[in-house]
Amino acid sequence: MRLLIKGIVQGVGFRPFVYRLARELGLKGYVKNRGDGVEICIEESKEFIQRLQKELPPLAKIEAIEVIGECEAEEPFSILESEATKSATFLSPDISTCDECLEELFDPSNRRYRYPLINCTNCGPRYTIIRALPYDRNNTSMAPFRMCRRCGEEYNDPNSRFYHAQPIGCNECGPKVRLGELEGYEAIKEAARLIKSGKIVAIKGVGGFHLVCKESEAKRLRAKKRRSKKPFAVMFQSIEAIEKACKIDEGERALILSKERPIVVVKKRGGFEGAAPDIDRVGVFLPYSPIYYLLFSLLSDPLIVTSANISDEPIIKDEESLRALGIADEVLWYEREIERSCDDSVMIVADSKPIFYRLSRGFGPKSFYVDRKLPSILAVGARQKNTIALAYENSIILSPHIGDIKNVESFDYFVKVIEDFKRIYDVTPQIVACDMHPHYETSRYARELGTNVVEVQHHRAHIWAAVAEMELTNHKLKGADFVGFAWDGTGYGDDGSIWGGEVFVEDKRRYHFEPFKIAGGERAIKQIDLIAKSLMRHVGLEVENRLFNLAYEKGASFVTSSVGRLFDAVALFSGLANYQEYEGFTGLLIEKAYRGGSERYEYMIEDGVIRIDWRSLINDKKEHIPTKFLNTLAAIIEDIALREKRAVILSGGVFQNRTLLEITTKALQKRNIPYFFPIQTPINDGGIALGQVWWAVRKGVI
Ligand code: ZN
Ligand code: ZN
Ligand code: FE
Repeated sequence: MRLLIKGIVQGVGFRPFVYRLARELGLKGYVKNRGDGVEICIEESKEFIQRLQKELPPLAKIEAIEVIGECEAEEPFSILESEATKSATFLSPDISTCDECLEELFDPSNRRYRYPLINCTNCGPRYTIIRALPYDRNNTSMAPFRMCRRCGEEYNDPNSRFYHAQPIGCNECGPKVRLGELEGYEAIKEAARLIKSGKIVAIKGVGGFHLVCKESEAKRLRAKKRRSKKPFAVMFQSIEAIEKACKIDEGERALILSKERPIVVVKKRGGFEGAAPDIDRVGVFLPYSPIYYLLFSLLSDPLIVTSANISDEPIIKDEESLRALGIADEVLWYEREIERSCDDSVMIVADSKPIFYRLSRGFGPKSFYVDRKLPSILAVGARQKNTIALAYENSIILSPHIGDIKNVESFDYFVKVIEDFKRIYDVTPQIVACDMHPHYETSRYARELGTNVVEVQHHRAHIWAAVAEMELTNHKLKGADFVGFAWDGTGYGDDGSIWGGEVFVEDKRRYHFEPFKIAGGERAIKQIDLIAKSLMRHVGLEVENRLFNLAYEKGASFVTSSVGRLFDAVALFSGLANYQEYEGFTGLLIEKAYRGGSERYEYMIEDGVIRIDWRSLINDKKEHIPTKFLNTLAAIIEDIALREKRAVILSGGVFQNRTLLEITTKALQKRNIPYFFPIQTPINDGGIALGQVWWAVRKGVI
């Protein structure tokens, strides 16, 4: 029979695996790459099909096995050269160094001893080096490097771990790592020395540059990066070192150790005020590329490892932009080019499940298999934490994190990713989905394409991102009636006001927080006293500040039902903050102050409008406010779920709040109310593009 295997099956050691299996079973036939998957021609064998699925190499993922014809296999099983047809094979994400490569990296008798770019078919860069499919060396940024004889032998040996490992290289033939005049291991030794002596060193990671320094240099890095309190991630030498510094549970430990190596935000035991000031959490991760392993063989203290970029913009991937940034004292780089950047993934564990703050290196592009043919759709996402999605045939691909689209550079990068995706997957979108917002650059771009444009309301996209995940992963709640809570910072609503505290039933906005006017316009996003004072005025309390009152009555303002803004006001009423240092800051402070129990404030739900008893909250003892506020939000969700008698979907940036998510889900569990929130895609605006696609498919015009 002739089979077409779809999924992540190229560049992940799939063909040699098939080869070895077929040879072991004594079957005749061949295997070859095609643009749309891997073709296997083989004698009938049940055992082969079973073991094909069971014993897959670590990075491979089968989405579908199609029987496409007969096969008269005569010859012993072999691997045939690839033929270029339509590109539809899922691109593999970049994966951390595997155990075997790691062993060779530190084995003085191995010829790749201390080779800082070692990788094989089971690990190493993929997404960040690929120029076109099929995934062959000439279609990657490894094309300029000529393999030496020994690498060539391994590359052509189906029994080798390096068989068709496109980024294969060694100390002799591969790209070099450099720092100034120094090269290879010497360059890394010098980087370690400089970091020890207090310097900030830029290091080229898999998907872009990091800025690396000792924790004690955090202040200087902050000053240079002009970033006052936003946390930096910390890289540790080992999981034991993380356990010493932080309180981590089994789920967090497993996630930190996973082959994707994300940054996991966990509870610190104290300290790390330089990396994560004021809050009780810190993002931690382990080395994931040979350069970092070598570096940590020379250094034992944890290091600040933060993306080289201007706040929230895409991570910098080329030397020129990095030097223009002017922050690093020295640069450790390598010659292989990064085709497109890919930032570190950031996650938490809540309700014993992984949650994405940022889906990127190791996880993105994230592909979904759809069991029916889709029209080709490009979804451009929102503005913050932008990602894009591409749907065609039986696939939906969600890009890794792109960043906040707020200036020319980030917009250009957004366009580049779209162009790359269209080219690599060979798709011309018939439909473009975007946010309804009139002023998002991403939406403007979509409208200017002139194709069939579908505008998707921001919070519906949040809900439908969750639904997509539920349906495409065959979750047990697939097809259930649900009530969807889309709570976040801001999104443009149907009525032109700013939404962010919405509850949907069958796509209708059934409930929402009572909208209130916020004085000060855009300024209020940072100056949260403007939000707090506006809320006071809204509930009829006096504010003794003539200037504010004037602004409230006559100045710029906006009306919003956003729960995110309520967190800001509550942080101020609780005396925790009067300035939003970075997105999510007030939420983290409120979590830190949470004391448990079930005390809460009264609230009312009338004609779908949710009103909290703000007067009681504002007049309450400051230390009681955070706890009672979070309990109130959870109680509101529980209450509405009971009224609606449906499964609950939670989506939107507010649910990045681990405490709120956990008290809510505990309450729902007690009532036996089934619930779902996204765990394979970001729960925040990073999931919007997926929601746009799925809304267009399921609810939209197509
Ligand atoms: Zn490897
Ligand atoms: Zn070589
Ligand atoms: Fe949002």
